[in-house]
Amino acid sequence: MPMRVAMLSAECEPWAKTGGLADVVDALARALGRLSGEAVETPVDVFLPRYRIVPEPQAIERTQVLSVPDPISETQACMFAPRCAHAIERCRGEVPRMRTAADGRKVACHRFEELA
Ligand code: SF4
Repeated sequence: MPMRVAMLSAECEPWAKTGGLADVVDALARALGRLSGEAVETPVDVFLPRYRIVPEPQAIERTQVLSVPDPISETQACMFAPRCAHAIERCRGEVPRMRTAADGRKVACHRFEELA
């Protein structure tokens, strides 16, 4: 299943730019968009605040409701559980603790060993 990527940013070239973040968001979206459809669902979405300088679209092609995890929530679940294709009941009832994998990477996933 391809990964769905949505970037929420304060700026993105060419619509809003005050520093390097706009360049990074633009370049990353373009680079991810060039990957094959097996790795990443394309096009990659970039969400910006509704600045006055951003032109009104001629037509709304699609609308969608996004669910963004609250990073300061006191939830007792993995924050990715609502959108993780591998989520199991344990993911919805227990926050995975951070562990160190055999190769030294840090991972917080109940199913890391079986999915790796
Ligand atoms: S713990 Fe792992 S498998 Fe479970 S929802 Fe989180 S990322 Fe997915």
